[in-house]
Amino acid sequence: MAHVDFPPCRLVSWPEIDRWSDLIAEKVRSASWNPQVIVGLTRGGWVPSRMLADRLGTKHLAALRAQHWGVTATPSGSAELTEELATRLDQKRVLVVDDITDTGQSLQLAVRHVADRGALEVRSATYLHISHSTYMPTYFAEEVARDAWRWFVFPWNYWEDLRTLAGKVRASDGMPAKEVQRELKARCLLDVPLSHVERALAPL
Ligand code: ADP
Repeated sequence: MAHVDFPPCRLVSWPEIDRWSDLIAEKVRSASWNPQVIVGLTRGGWVPSRMLADRLGTKHLAALRAQHWGVTATPSGSAELTEELATRLDQKRVLVVDDITDTGQSLQLAVRHVADRGALEVRSATYLHISHSTYMPTYFAEEVARDAWRWFVFPWNYWEDLRTLAGKVRASDGMPAKEVQRELKARCLLDVPLSHVERALAPL
């Protein structure tokens, strides 16, 4: 994805997250496959991996750190794994989880890394899969057509995305929050309460 200053966004709700988690868990179960280890890509796959571990009854949850997107909707160079897994995964069935495959590079790297750690079988899952991604996860809840691309504002990234985007649409420090709220809606399709805009604009 090219650099986008004002990406069209879509707010994702917790009920959607629940529904997508159920859907993926159902797909994994109906494939008669149960992972012994779930590896969540941080940070986006952290909550999804925990949701799936709960549904699938998987006790071994590990984190793998991948970095690509610098700030909201701005990829920084190519994806890389910046913290690798500490444990071996010899002879294990492993599910690698992220929130979304956009370019798909992070997930692809992670799956390769897990295989290199000795896993018996590696599968992958994401809530959303953008159709232009070069890597297709084994399981996903929804496919997004490339021309319907959005920056998905997940509940675990809400304040970070809001801070970034509110900062970008604010033309000057003196711009009233109400105007920033209007600009967020007009430019980024983000409809959020005024009190949230005020909080996002306040220094951390
Ligand atoms: P890559 O880093 O190779 O582009 P992904 O496309 O899977 O790999 O993106 C990495 C992470 O960036 C995702 O886990 C997600 O947190 C975030 N991300 C990427 N694209 C989007 C998007 N369209 N909406 C929201 N978050 C995104």
